[in-house]
Amino acid sequence: MRSPIPDYLADVMTACAPDEGGQVADYIPELAAVDPDQFALCLTTVDGAIHEAGDSGAHFTIQSISKPFVYALAIQELGLDAVLAKVDVEPSGEAFNELSLEEGSGRPLNPMINAGAIVTHTLAGPPADRFDRVLAGLSAFAGRPLDVDESVYASEAATAFRNYAIANMLRGHGTITEDPAAVVHGYTRQCAIRVTTKDMALMAATLANGGVHPITEEEVVDDAVVRQVLSVMTTCGMYDAAGDWLTTVGIPAKSGVSGGLIGALPGQVGIAAFSPRLDEHGHSVRGEDVFRRLSRDMELHMMNAAQPARATIRRTHTVRHAEGGDARVYALHGSIQFAGAERLLRDLVSRADELPTELVFDLSDVHAINATARRMILEVIRRLTLEGHHVTLVDPGATLPEPDSGSGVRPDVVGSVGEVSRTA
Ligand code: GLU
Repeated sequence: MRSPIPDYLADVMTACAPDEGGQVADYIPELAAVDPDQFALCLTTVDGAIHEAGDSGAHFTIQSISKPFVYALAIQELGLDAVLAKVDVEPSGEAFNELSLEEGSGRPLNPMINAGAIVTHTLAGPPADRFDRVLAGLSAFAGRPLDVDESVYASEAATAFRNYAIANMLRGHGTITEDPAAVVHGYTRQCAIRVTTKDMALMAATLANGGVHPITEEEVVDDAVVRQVLSVMTTCGMYDAAGDWLTTVGIPAKSGVSGGLIGALPGQVGIAAFSPRLDEHGHSVRGEDVFRRLSRDMELHMMNAAQPARATIRRTHTVRHAEGGDARVYALHGSIQFAGAERLLRDLVSRADELPTELVFDLSDVHAINATARRMILEVIRRLTLEGHHVTLVDPGATLPEPDSGSGVRPDVVGSVGEVSRTA
């Protein structure tokens, strides 16, 4: 059987294809020469499934989609505070190439507009090997060696008058101390790195996967770096259309003037679309339409209410304990975070007077417990034990490994409820 997902993606493209609105970017001469009808879509899951439609292997330059990834590399290299000292994280509500800095500090407002991205580029390493690091870093995000489109680079470097102006403004404020023209050359080269739609989907999926590439399994950046990057993509990635994007699509995203558009939905998917005609904000017209449809059809909006925490307790029941007496079994399921663990704690506290000595937490159907939920569950096990209960964990998948509650408390761990119960 063939997966229905590529068929669905092809249907989405068919629905979006007739829209020939917008213009290809013409302020970079080489971009003005591209075939405006190119169209591709790729969706990659965080466990590495790749679904493609259209010409997802066609090459184009990454342009501004490089910005979140170089921001990630700079934070990974220097730490967040050092990067924040140079570039703020406030949405500017302005166009990507606006000449604006924060009053007083001279910091660009965020790393997604050109002013912020030009500074961020200088934070990616010392001048001598900076570009090599940027190229290696973006290649790690993509999971294959990328290269530079030299003619797009030369074409933009010869005409990047606005970016030279921005860099000179940054130099005037002391935000950068290097030669402004050299910095713009480096940044322009970064924008001229060649990718395919599939590369971009994998780069986005690496962000969605907490910084670990879904296929190579390389940890490109830490998950704390990814959280910062996705937050900034959410508020600033779509420039002066960020509010409309967040409310209607709700996927942290970044666009580029060559017609690329990526979105990274944490824990689920990386999505990339490519279609060169742009709207007045500089975003791919058909790319935006694709994202709106995917978000709506597949319920991908990040603000969709998550699985309710009450679903954490699948059921409770009482069994005869192997050593006599009753045991109360809490069968838990799903992925447990703060609210799910709170639900379990609340149930235990509300029944404190009626709980038997023997308690069993059955984690057989739990697939993940985050660090906070783990601390909460271990603490309630500690308290229950100090109050005279005996807790057994049924944890065949080691979802709660090394369950040391402190104070010498360690629950028993078994592989099935059958091991602690006797058939009633
Ligand atoms: N290289 C482009 C510039 O700096 C990138 C802009 C974009 O993709 O939005 O003008």
